[in-house]
Amino acid sequence: MAEKHTSPRVFFPRTVSEALDLANDQPDFVFWAGGTHLAGDSKSRDMIDLPRTVIALGFVEELVRASRSEHGLELGSMITLDRLTSIGRSALPTGLSEALSGIGTRPLRCRATLGGHLGRKGIVGDLAPLLQILDSRIETRYLRERRGRRKPTAATRKIPVSLLASDEGLRKGELITRISIPNEPWNFGAVKKIFPESKPGRVLIFSALARLDKGMLSEWRMALSDGLGHILRDREMEVGMAGKPLPLSKKDLDGMVEAIRLLTEPWSDREYERKAAMGLARGFMIRAGS
Ligand SMILES: Cc1cc2nc3c(=O)[nH]c(=O)nc-3n(C[C@H](O)[C@H](O)[C@H](O)COP(=O)(O)OP(=O)(O)OC[C@H]3O[C@@H](n4cnc5c(N)ncnc54)[C@H](O)[C@@H]3O)c2cc1C
Repeated sequence: MAEKHTSPRVFFPRTVSEALDLANDQPDFVFWAGGTHLAGDSKSRDMIDLPRTVIALGFVEELVRASRSEHGLELGSMITLDRLTSIGRSALPTGLSEALSGIGTRPLRCRATLGGHLGRKGIVGDLAPLLQILDSRIETRYLRERRGRRKPTAATRKIPVSLLASDEGLRKGELITRISIPNEPWNFGAVKKIFPESKPGRVLIFSALARLDKGMLSEWRMALSDGLGHILRDREMEVGMAGKPLPLSKKDLDGMVEAIRLLTEPWSDREYERKAAMGLARGFMIRAGS
């Protein structure tokens, strides 16, 4: 029997409240930002199955605003990756320009948005590990039922990037509105993306930040991702190395490499990525000390 395909109904809200009301009214909907993920892979023409209703966010003005305050950078979720790049390397948080330039091609970055990049279920994009170590927070808005009220009321939540992939992450109907990146103490950083040879579809994303101060490693952070599951990070190792004089001693470098070996144990079937992560961290520290 032939399957019956019906096109989804598309709504174009003008405000966040309208978008939330629409989401609340529709049992089966999706938020559409740049559509690069939802439209799927153009080579295989596999468009992701769209639900009955599409809520397109392109006309919600509030979501395309960017501002800088004494606390840091506030970025609306509908800002495209290209617009973010155009802010300029020196005005962006350490490492962000590098991370952005590794994502697809310019035409893709002109459409893909920050909110869409972070809103994909079960996927850790290139930016999430860096945003996590930059202590970024994701502001969301959603509707919640209140006792004594006939209609649900709007509420706001701030989610650390580390919780995005957890049960406390994005819930159905929750709209990412802003990404807040606090002012940073970092003056040295690196974001590297490695594709293991002859292993199609695999990737290692290495993100590291450091504060170098009068020949010392005052503070540092590192996050590793395979683009799929959770981001790997070892706070104990980061704290343990803070305050060490630069260049790091062989003992300190070997200790760090051993800690990364333990950290990457969940990747027991990804020996290439584990070795690459150890090499990248060692190289990062050697450059920091030179
Ligand atoms: C050819 C190609 C190459 C790519 N290369 C890379 C790469 O190198 N590295 C990488 O990390 N990624 C890569 N990507 C993925 C790309 O980063 C994402 O497709 C893009 O960032 C998604 O943004 P979007 O605005 O198009 O989202 P959409 O496709 O519109 O949405 C993505 C998901 O997020 C949800 N969503 C969107 N906005 C919101 C919001 N405000 N609140 C809540 N949920 C929301 C949507 O409902 C959907 O589930 C690539 C994609 C393509 C097509």
